[in-house]
Amino acid sequence: MVESEFDVVILGSGPAGLQAAVHAARARAKTAVLGKARSSALYRAHVENYCCLNDTVSGESILNEGRRQAEKFGALLIDEDVVHIEQLEDGRFRVELESEDTLLVRSAILAMGISRNRLNVPGEKELLGRGVSYCVDCDANFFRNRVVTVVGNGSAAAAGALRMLVVATETHLVCDSLDVAEKLRYQLESSRTRLHLGRKVSGIEGDSEVRAVLLDNGEKIETSGVFVELGAKGAIELVTGLGVALDSESMRFVAVGKKQETNVPGLYAAGDICGPPWQIAKAVGEGCVAGLEAAAYARKASGKPAQG
Ligand SMILES: Cc1cc2nc3c(=O)[nH]c(=O)nc-3n(C[C@H](O)[C@H](O)[C@H](O)COP(=O)(O)OP(=O)(O)OC[C@H]3O[C@@H](n4cnc5c(N)ncnc54)[C@H](O)[C@@H]3O)c2cc1C
Repeated sequence: MVESEFDVVILGSGPAGLQAAVHAARARAKTAVLGKARSSALYRAHVENYCCLNDTVSGESILNEGRRQAEKFGALLIDEDVVHIEQLEDGRFRVELESEDTLLVRSAILAMGISRNRLNVPGEKELLGRGVSYCVDCDANFFRNRVVTVVGNGSAAAAGALRMLVVATETHLVCDSLDVAEKLRYQLESSRTRLHLGRKVSGIEGDSEVRAVLLDNGEKIETSGVFVELGAKGAIELVTGLGVALDSESMRFVAVGKKQETNVPGLYAAGDICGPPWQIAKAVGEGCVAGLEAAAYARKASGKPAQG
């Protein structure tokens, strides 16, 4: 077991964590970034709406570039998950990794994204990024003039189905019990959305891309896209022991102020873990602020002079 000391540690190596690393390392903080690129929401995405990218770019290549950039500025990338984090009496954080190695740090940034609720049906995992998506806002345009199926009972699914009507030729909504406000229900029922109420998805069929959704009554919907909109759960279990405050509205995301600071001194958060919209632009904006602030905090806590 090895114990190492850092000024700033970043939990998560998606766009929020990598951008935080670039800024913290450039501010001369000794910085470590934890987590696996392939677990980032971005890894399987194809991106066309991020600033200054004119062509569609794979999420994997954006992450690879981001990793190289963070390393170029001196951040250490550790391809491991955190299993435990605690705050010591002197204010530092002790971070335990999968390998049982530990890091002692002055400041930490939570950038672990969110765990997306899944259908857990055959074909879902295999066809992710090939017709299966968890984000209408992100991927709607890839299904222009095609047939799509949205799955879910709540407002995210209902509103997603209505948004899809604008771009898709045909939109299906599968839900076993529609749980939305009256107005949204009325909008949905009076729209062209083809509702499959009281139904569950039992499987997704396809080879190189999605071809059909199978329902529990044996019905088959020929479709090119499946949007799983079951809501999103904040990946916050790891940090509840630190007494981190959550947003008062949903209680699912880490609450932060304008400097991306949490209620715990020295602890910052950025990206999806802080709540929607689920977009790279928001993640990197917050990552930038968190990286700079965490580096400044660590510098002050160590008694070093401020950066000129
Ligand atoms: C299919 C799909 C398509 C998308 N398309 C677009 C798009 O076109 N445009 C757009 O702007 N956005 C898109 N998004 C959303 C975008 O990917 C996210 O908003 C963005 O990745 C959030 O960045 P993040 O750094 O907060 O979290 P993530 O990118 O999810 O990264 C989280 C990181 O935390 C790490 N982690 C988790 N738990 C631990 C732990 N215990 N210890 C250490 N590390 C941990 C993971 O390994 C991962 O590295 C899409 C998302 C999906 C799923």
